[in-house]
Amino acid sequence: VVTVRGLIKKYHDTAVLQGVDLTLDRGEVLSIIGPSGSGKSTLLRCLNQLEEVDGGEIRHGDELLGIETVRGRLMRVREKDVVRQRRAFGMVFQHFNLFPHMTALQNVMEGPTQVRRMPQADARALALEELKRVGLAGHANHYPAELSGGQQQRVAIARALAMRPEIMLFDEPTSALDPELVDEVLDVIRGLAAEGMTMVIVTHEMSLAQEISDSVVVMDRGQVVEAGPPTQIFRAPRSERTRRFVAKLI
Ligand code: ATP
Ligand code: MG
Repeated sequence: VVTVRGLIKKYHDTAVLQGVDLTLDRGEVLSIIGPSGSGKSTLLRCLNQLEEVDGGEIRHGDELLGIETVRGRLMRVREKDVVRQRRAFGMVFQHFNLFPHMTALQNVMEGPTQVRRMPQADARALALEELKRVGLAGHANHYPAELSGGQQQRVAIARALAMRPEIMLFDEPTSALDPELVDEVLDVIRGLAAEGMTMVIVTHEMSLAQEISDSVVVMDRGQVVEAGPPTQIFRAPRSERTRRFVAKLI
């Protein structure tokens, strides 16, 4: 469903993505691993058009994201097209990013009412359904400050799911959590994988990457060093840089 070709992203004069290629199929779970600063978050942010890219292309199906050709010239698409294109992707961040002045239910209802223009009653029913899916039906009226980190992250997942995205993007969804709260979030992600959700997961949880990924991409210094099934990456890496990175983690 998604293809990335030769993606380049610069900050000032430094290319933090230096020609990244990637393909993501429907129903695939793809994990991205690699050292700090290698460009993993930047790549996810580009997929979701939170960053403008400096070269290469991202396609969703047949559609080029973010740019179009007008009278033979490449132009940035209009904001309303960016908003529409972005709706295919649901994003979950490391630091939950919930609205602190809204309850769990209101947080999950926000997208459906404000972006999808759904009537309140329908949005409420949908939000309750999504909270139930992440095991938080009983916490709908709690504010973020009244929830544990693991519960807040599950609300954030429910909020993304309530927009009915085709693809879920996770950026280190458990790395801000106390160790005892990691599993409840991983269980939700495992459940989504079992349902066949298409997902890209940036993670330091090697056991998760091994367990649920169809493929693993290893990044280093803005480049894809190696991509392949988890058995290859973790047991028989072809690249020396993968070997060194994986050896440090296990
Ligand atoms: P981590 O594992 O620590 O989250 P990462 O692989 O997600 O790392 P990125 O956050 O994508 O790495 O950052 C890649 C590089 O781009 C880093 O060198 C970082 O300092 C730089 N960078 C990221 N965001 C910006 C920004 N807004 N302005 C300037 N440089 C940035
Ligand atoms: Mg990051």
